[in-house]
Amino acid sequence: MAGTLLEVAGVTAFYDASQALFGVDLSVGEGEVVALMGRNGMGKTTTIRTICRMMPHREGRISFAGRDLARLPSHQAAWLGLGLVPEGRRCFPTLTVHENLIAAARSGHWNADRVVALFPQLADRRHQKANTLSGGEQQMLAIGRALMTNPRLLILDEATEGLGPLVRREIWSVIARLKEEGLSILVVDKSIAALAAIAERCVILEKGTTCWSGPSADLTPALTQRYLGV
Ligand code: ATP
Repeated sequence: MAGTLLEVAGVTAFYDASQALFGVDLSVGEGEVVALMGRNGMGKTTTIRTICRMMPHREGRISFAGRDLARLPSHQAAWLGLGLVPEGRRCFPTLTVHENLIAAARSGHWNADRVVALFPQLADRRHQKANTLSGGEQQMLAIGRALMTNPRLLILDEATEGLGPLVRREIWSVIARLKEEGLSILVVDKSIAALAAIAERCVILEKGTTCWSGPSADLTPALTQRYLGV
């Protein structure tokens, strides 16, 4: 069996005095796609922030590729191979597509040419500023920028938020291609059906705690109704 790449165990975290995570457990194996689910405000983004060292966790353990992340500053966590596509995309607005891509580049399989081959719409826009792109193109750029870091784990927070059906389909098919290529992926999205179709396993958060995790095939309508309200 492939090894564990990311292990989050018993993690708690606070925004000042306000506790947001009360004990999150999740893991992602090498080459595995895991969906992180939960209703609004249940702690998905906060979990991702703690994994990416954008905020500290108070208790528990986060290890990545066998290293305890608590001991590393955030820039070193990125260097270890965590590639984040953040909620709201956050491309550099006044930089061009190409400048956005090369800003975070690390050598490896992914380079600007490969990203543009993955997202052909970006090809004609290489010298256009990011703030002139559509939402879908900005999400493609955000994914491309994360790939340019040549991550061992790609983390997508709200993979298709605010996008139309055609662009959504395209983003999911790109994620499926990345999965086929063996990339490990942790993904958050509102579409439970799309997540369950692509992920091997799902982890559900409720009030800052992992309340269910298991193979996507075991995610029954009763469970989605109970924990996700759909
Ligand atoms: P959503 O689907 O709405 O993005 P989420 O599952 O990602 O939700 P989080 O954004 O992680 O949830 O929020 C978890 C808890 O932490 C919520 O109670 C939220 O109000 C709180 N929280 C999030 N960001 C902050 C912040 N910057 N300051 C204070 N509290 C915050």
